[in-house]
Amino acid sequence: MKDLSNKNMLHIIKDDMSYLQFRKLLEYPEIAHAYTVGLDNNFRTFINSGITSNYETGISNYKVLCNYLDINFNGCIRASLNHTSDIKIIDSNNNLPFFENDERRHDGIITNINGINLVTNSADCITLLLYDKEKGVIANIHSGWKGTYNRILENALRSMHEYYGCSYKDIMIFICPSIRECHFEVDSDVFEIFDKRFKKYPNIIRTRGNKWLIDTVLINKYMSLDLGVREDNIYDSEICTVCNKDEINSFRAHKANFGVNAAIIGMKGKVKCLKKN
Ligand SMILES: [Zn+2]
Repeated sequence: MKDLSNKNMLHIIKDDMSYLQFRKLLEYPEIAHAYTVGLDNNFRTFINSGITSNYETGISNYKVLCNYLDINFNGCIRASLNHTSDIKIIDSNNNLPFFENDERRHDGIITNINGINLVTNSADCITLLLYDKEKGVIANIHSGWKGTYNRILENALRSMHEYYGCSYKDIMIFICPSIRECHFEVDSDVFEIFDKRFKKYPNIIRTRGNKWLIDTVLINKYMSLDLGVREDNIYDSEICTVCNKDEINSFRAHKANFGVNAAIIGMKGKVKCLKKN
């Protein structure tokens, strides 16, 4: 398999698992994290786009991954992933939902509890991992074009600020592999709503023939900077899932029966007070 490592990313290749890690996040031993790659690694444990999951395979892949990350599979919570802009705060150790057993629809999860591992899946959509080391708060956000359009990242940042007292300047943002401007080609309907809503942001849209290319990653960066996130706290994998379709599950590239990648982040270390500040 091709080594996808670059200045921000380290590619770990094992016999039965392959994943990327952010070099910056590896500086924090209290954090466990990964973005899986490899077409053999399908983390689909749910039904979407009419594709039924192979639940057992998905679960066993999670267990292998958790083993490598030295974290507890039973502490994993997965966002329900419905292309919403809603956030769920995990603030209690009691009766925590496991994976998709939660009725409420949300595409971002936040916690400050050690031992809880936040999971999202994607196959082109942007996954954003957030960490505020000052307050000890993590988040895992799934932002497809609908999530970006409806500003889910902004909702997550505001939630961290309002609920946990995080300062925007302290929050680090890690942008996992996703479809990039080179491949996110849209028709006039999507172009028009993005052009209208994000008019103030430069260089986010260009034309190609009678289509448009939208840079949703850049829009998420602008949104973060607008709130007060520091530019040097944004770490971008700079990896396009479609350009790397031989290595990474991609909906646009693989279409029918596409597999999904998993992004996971958890905090190890001593248990903190679970109450808000
Ligand atoms: Zn591309």
